[in-house]
Amino acid sequence: MKGASTSSEPTRAKALWLNGKILPWEDGRVHLMTHTLHYGLGVFEGIRFYKRGDGRSAVFRLDDHIRRLFDSAHICLMQLPYSPEDVADACVEMVRANDMAEGYIRPIAYIAEGAMGLGATDNPIHVAVMVYPWGAYLGVDGLKHGIRAKISSFARHHVNSGMAKGKICGQYVNSILAKREAKLAKYDEAIMLDTDGYVAEASGENVFMVRDGVLRTPPLSSSVLGGITRATIIALSHEIGLPVIRQKFSRDELYTADEVFLTGTAAEITPVREVDDRRIGSGRPGQWTQRFQELFFEIVRGTDSKHMEWLRFTEAPASAAKASNA
Ligand code: PMP
Repeated sequence: MKGASTSSEPTRAKALWLNGKILPWEDGRVHLMTHTLHYGLGVFEGIRFYKRGDGRSAVFRLDDHIRRLFDSAHICLMQLPYSPEDVADACVEMVRANDMAEGYIRPIAYIAEGAMGLGATDNPIHVAVMVYPWGAYLGVDGLKHGIRAKISSFARHHVNSGMAKGKICGQYVNSILAKREAKLAKYDEAIMLDTDGYVAEASGENVFMVRDGVLRTPPLSSSVLGGITRATIIALSHEIGLPVIRQKFSRDELYTADEVFLTGTAAEITPVREVDDRRIGSGRPGQWTQRFQELFFEIVRGTDSKHMEWLRFTEAPASAAKASNA
């Protein structure tokens, strides 16, 4: 399948961007008194860029990711010392500087050293952008044949405890606990319920189910991240005429779904073939799941030109390349 690579590449590259400067990868270090390292208030993004059918690389939905980064910072009362355009440009610049055709972009904003009290409103905010290779997050086999998921014993944060609309560093402790529990129990991924017992999201993905020709996913008012892949699937479902409703559902509705799949920048569109040892549908990726995978990979890696607004090409314009060679 197009879109298949491994998730075991080392997460390192040549250069990174820190506070407006391009540095060698090895110089991307923080002080041990970095506030975010101790308490977790920081915000980040996960973005992918792909090599398309014509050989050019493009970042997928860069502006949407940057907007969410700034929304996350706003939720956290963090004032980033760069504009959204600066950070978006840094992402593209890092793809070029590392000479990578495909990979993952990780912008992060964190509270640097200074006061160690919790408020620390005067500590500087640092912003960094790293780019590194990252294959299929839940494995090539998972992407192709589907994964086995477990309902977590850890609930997603109540909407008034965690701020689910923010991609906030410390909130990932909840996800990591769920992920580790699932992995130790020999499942591939954890699906988390909200504090009322309804399905929320997976440790790093949104959840979709299909039953009787209707696509369902929890609403944004649930304790879920506003996934950019989720929004992509909703847009595509309108285009292919599959009715979609944003509605809470229970774990047994998942068990009895015709199809279940997870969406995320890292996981892309990963079919779920079992939940808590209950086979989903035929136990193989369903027709709609496969259709979404085909559409998605055709946009990011193929030649589909219906959604050029989602792609930011990373090649330097010919005139700039000429000037830099001069
Ligand atoms: N939920 C959580 C908790 C996540 O970490 C992610 C990954 N960013 C998602 C959902 C999916 O979001 P996106 O499609 O924007 O990557």
